[in-house]
Amino acid sequence: ARADLASLRDVPAVTLDGVEVGMYANIELPEEAQAALDAGADGIGLFRSEFLFMGRAELPDEEEQYAAYAKVVQTMAGRPVTIRTLDIGADKTLDGEATVAINPALGQRAIRYCLARPALFATQLRALLRASAHGPIRLLVPMVAHQHEVVGLYAAIESARQELRARGQAFAEKIEVGAMIEVPAAAIAIEPFVEAFDYLSIGTNDLIQYTLAIDRADPEVAALYDPLHPAVLRLIAQTINAGARAGKPVAVCGEMAGDVTYTRLLLALGLTQFSMHPHQLLEVKREVLQAHSNALRARLANSLNRAVPFDLSVLDI
Ligand code: PEP
Ligand code: MG
Repeated sequence: ARADLASLRDVPAVTLDGVEVGMYANIELPEEAQAALDAGADGIGLFRSEFLFMGRAELPDEEEQYAAYAKVVQTMAGRPVTIRTLDIGADKTLDGEATVAINPALGQRAIRYCLARPALFATQLRALLRASAHGPIRLLVPMVAHQHEVVGLYAAIESARQELRARGQAFAEKIEVGAMIEVPAAAIAIEPFVEAFDYLSIGTNDLIQYTLAIDRADPEVAALYDPLHPAVLRLIAQTINAGARAGKPVAVCGEMAGDVTYTRLLLALGLTQFSMHPHQLLEVKREVLQAHSNALRARLANSLNRAVPFDLSVLDI
C-alpha cells in the first residue's frame, strides 16, 4: 500500500466531482521542509516557529531566525510558506521561564504573549519580513480573539517594516496575514476576523480544547476530547462558510486535517485546504481522490445536530 501511496505524490488532489483541494504540510523545524516536498505538498500550511525557541538557553536572534525562515522558503521553491508567529505558553514553554499562570492554557500565550513583549515580537516580525524577500511567506497569528489584538498586530508589522526601510533591508511589500481560528469566541464572532485577515486557518487542537473545556494534554479527560462534538463541527462549518462568503481561503491545520477518519467529514463541511504532518499527506490525498464532495455536502446538510457525537456513518455513501 505504501508503494501505491507514493505514486500519488504528483497527482493533483481533486475530488471525483472536480473540487480542487490544497494539500499543505505542518512542520516544526526548517529541516522538515524537505519531507513536505517529498510528500508532494502544495506548500507549508503551518510552520510552528516556537520550536526554534524551545529547549535552549538563549533565544534565537534576528539573524538566526531570518536564516531559518529563508531556508524554508528556499527549500519550498516558490510554494507558499505559512509561518506562525511564536505560540509560546500553555503546553509549550521557554527554557528557564517558569510559568506563573494559574491556568496556562487560559493565560498569556501566543499573540497575547507576543503583544506583551514588543521587542521579542518585533525581532521575529523583522526576520519574517526579511525572509519574504526570497519567496511567498504568509504570516499566521495564533490565538487571536480580540479586536485590539488585530490592531496591535498590524501596528507591530508596520513598525517592523519601517525599521527595515530605515536600515535599507529588503522585504516583500505585500505579505498575506492570516489568523488561526482556535478560540471559540473568534469562531462564533467570525465576521470581523474574516474581514481583517487575508486568510484563516482553523486550529482544531485548541478549538476542541476550548470549546469542550477539555485540557488537550490531560490523559484523565482524553476520552472526552471529541472532534465529533457537533458544537465543534458547527464552529468549523461557520468559519469555512464565512470565509467562502468573503472569498477568503480557509484551511484546517489541526490534527483533524491529517486523520483520514475525518477527511470526508471535512470535505462535507466544505473544506478545500488541509494542512498536516508530511507523513499523513498521501493517505489523506487518497481519501480526497475517492470522495464525491457535493454528495458528502448534501448528506451532511441538516444532520449536524442529530447526535452527540456526530454519527460519521451518515457520510457512508
Ligand atoms: C491547533 O491548535 O490545532 C494547532 C494547529 O496548533 P497547535 O497544535 O500548535 O496549538
Ligand atoms: Mg493551537
